[in-house]
Amino acid sequence: MISRLTVLGATGSIGQSTLDVVRRHPQRYRVFALSAATRVERMLADVLEFTPQFAVMTDPQSALALMERLPEDCPTQVLAGADALPMIASHADVDMVMAAIVGAAGLLPTLAAAEAGKRVLLANKESLVMAGPLFMDAIRRGGAALLPIDSEHNAIFQSLPAGYDGDARRFGVERILLTASGGPFRGRTHEQLHGITPAQAVAHPNWSMGQKISVDSATLMNKGLELIEACFLFHCTPDDVQVVVHPQSVIHSMVQYCDGSVIAQLGQPDMRTPIAYGMAWPERIDAGVKPLNLFDIARLDFTPPDEATFPCLRLARDAFIAGGTMPAVLNAANEIAVDAFLREQIPFTAIPTLIESVMAAHEARPLTSLQTVLDADSWARTQAAGRLGEFPMNTEKQV
Ligand code: NDP
Ligand code: MG
Repeated sequence: MISRLTVLGATGSIGQSTLDVVRRHPQRYRVFALSAATRVERMLADVLEFTPQFAVMTDPQSALALMERLPEDCPTQVLAGADALPMIASHADVDMVMAAIVGAAGLLPTLAAAEAGKRVLLANKESLVMAGPLFMDAIRRGGAALLPIDSEHNAIFQSLPAGYDGDARRFGVERILLTASGGPFRGRTHEQLHGITPAQAVAHPNWSMGQKISVDSATLMNKGLELIEACFLFHCTPDDVQVVVHPQSVIHSMVQYCDGSVIAQLGQPDMRTPIAYGMAWPERIDAGVKPLNLFDIARLDFTPPDEATFPCLRLARDAFIAGGTMPAVLNAANEIAVDAFLREQIPFTAIPTLIESVMAAHEARPLTSLQTVLDADSWARTQAAGRLGEFPMNTEKQV
């Protein structure tokens, strides 16, 4: 049986790794639809190679440019605008959806895939952070299979017993050990983070990723978002999750059991492993990843995270505990802060301070509807954008 796949965010780092796995298994997977925002050249090459039924460019100018470049006999229909995304994510002819748009823009199509009962391959952690309870409810109602693609959550999924439903006592699960590389600035003091440039922040030591998640890794917000992601996915609280800095990124996370066992998943830092796992589950397929050579690695190190220098992890924990709309506010403020940092409007050390100030101004409300999430998201964006001027370059406030 061929599985038909929609790749949301096809031109990005995860999208391209997904298409590489598809390329290796033409007898198993067929691309139904691809989406991107503005990268026309990349999309053009992928449309010509995979001839999907639909190619969505959310930027209308880019959709026009793509249409002009495609040969007349190309069977792919080009659609413009974000409104087309839920359609390609929930179409009756789709079996699985790779949710790999970056940021809050991924929420609506990912939810649409969940509600339509598709196999949801979740890379877009921001959508789960923003709307966790609603998202998990949509998965249940739609009867969808939710496969975590984030390497840590994929490792935890692999290390938990089959059918794990959050009943930790019955399954003997004691805690989740969420590993973190520590990012490019591991070991630095707060003072040493002054003057960090975007180029330095996006140069991750182990993983090649999109810009936004690379900055999140540098601030440890990525680990904060992943802590929230783990709580929703595996029905636990921050107390059940220990963050372990493991600079080699060989162990991708672990589960500790009541009998003293710790089960870990190891592998190369290559996202094609979790992607192939999610696509083929419960089977396994070749992902094009070279085998792990433990003699080359030789040693594995573990230390606690430095939450004083990298406060984003604490902010994420606080947001989850406050609950309701607070994780959506954390996420939106972070997106504005990271974007401003990448544009060199604010310094690196202002990112957590800005997020904290927006969270302090917000009173968490219960997540009664999707509209509550969207309102909190837009409120936080306005708040964060309005505060950017408080953090001029080179004279930032101390965290
Ligand atoms: P990239 O920046 O490499 O790619 C993002 C994709 O989303 C691109 O296809 C981009 O299109 C599209 N996109 C960007 N903005 C919008 C928008 N406003 N509306 C619609 N589409 C948009 O990101 P990554 O692949 O690194 O990350 C994608 C997601 O996966 C993130 O949520 C990230 O946290 C998560 N993730 C990534 C990992 C990785 O190794 N990269 C690991 C674990 C999780 P265009 O190219 O045209 O701009
Ligand atoms: Mg991760």
